[in-house]
Amino acid sequence: MISIRIQQLTKRFGSVTALHHLNLEIAPGELFFLLGPSGCGKTTLLRSMAGFYIPEEGKIFFGDEDVTRLAPHKRNTGMMFQSYALWPHMSVAENVAFGLEERKVAKDEIKRRVGEALESVRMGQYAERRPNQLSGGQQQRVALARALVIRPRCLLLDEPLSNLDAKLRLEMRTEIRRVCKEFKLTTVYVTHDQKEALSVSDRMAILESGHILQVGSPREVYKRPHRKTVANFIGETDFIPGKLLGREGDKIWVETSVGRFQGIMGDPLANVATGATVTVSIRPECWTITQAPEAQNNIRGAIGDSVYLGEIGQYDFVSNGTTLKMVERNPRYVGTRAASGELFASVEPEDVVVLVD
Ligand code: ATP
Repeated sequence: MISIRIQQLTKRFGSVTALHHLNLEIAPGELFFLLGPSGCGKTTLLRSMAGFYIPEEGKIFFGDEDVTRLAPHKRNTGMMFQSYALWPHMSVAENVAFGLEERKVAKDEIKRRVGEALESVRMGQYAERRPNQLSGGQQQRVALARALVIRPRCLLLDEPLSNLDAKLRLEMRTEIRRVCKEFKLTTVYVTHDQKEALSVSDRMAILESGHILQVGSPREVYKRPHRKTVANFIGETDFIPGKLLGREGDKIWVETSVGRFQGIMGDPLANVATGATVTVSIRPECWTITQAPEAQNNIRGAIGDSVYLGEIGQYDFVSNGTTLKMVERNPRYVGTRAASGELFASVEPEDVVVLVD
């Protein structure tokens, strides 16, 4: 197991700066995701780790070794990309053996390791098939076996599931996590699929325009986004403009057009003065709709449009001219809220995230 350290990494393509002085530390054995909108620099960062790009500035360390200028084949990384890129004229076993033959590993050893790698991705019985006799998910398992068989120092995955249908993606998500943990591999995984990142990662970095906006566990990033872009990118949320009334440690009070809220600061280090303009972020599932007002963090309004989805109901809650999205999960009220006159909605202070950008 190795750590991966990125120090002050800058990568330019002509006049485009794809990465701006990035710093990042990935722990040994960690399953780490790079997430962000198209063009944010995820692939550039991953390819720099793989050695396909040499950065203009900064360093990359695998453990204590500076690999910044090391050729890709000397880095001993296992890679898996969107397209499976299996050789069509070779059997599954031959495809997996390829990397070992290149490294001049002895024949017996190759046979044993290919067998082990295929077993670990549950493809042992397909060793003699050709790639075109396999499903997309099975081909992706073979690609994973091929990445693992060389006993890489780390695994680098670029949108590995994007060619699969929704059901297979779900299955392979769990499979990739199982294999990474079983092999205790430090893994960097690029995706723009937030559900994939939330469900599989130990930690993630959210990138935008070549900068890292936030690093944290799925829960930290989802529950406490530091910035509007992060809150917006991960999950759904409503932004309500407001004015800061006061702050006491982690507690913060904000006045908005729909009411007064007690909340928490998204970025605990943000420096913001009383009276400053801020934005409140509240996720739809955090509201509780009630008939009578609650003691605090309570707004008054009425249901506008609603969508019945069986297990949940989605509502537009209109309060003082502002429409907020809310989700009802109590089976008693799902689908019964429409046009039911004046209602109230309340939210816990920890779910009222105050943002300054
Ligand atoms: P996507 O999700 O669309 O794959 P990404 O987050 O992986 O996007 P990158 O491919 O890393 O983004 O691109 C980052 C920036 O660098 C973009 O502005 C892109 O246009 C630019 N870029 C990437 N590769 C090259 C290249 N080979 N030549 C010129 N510009 C490039």
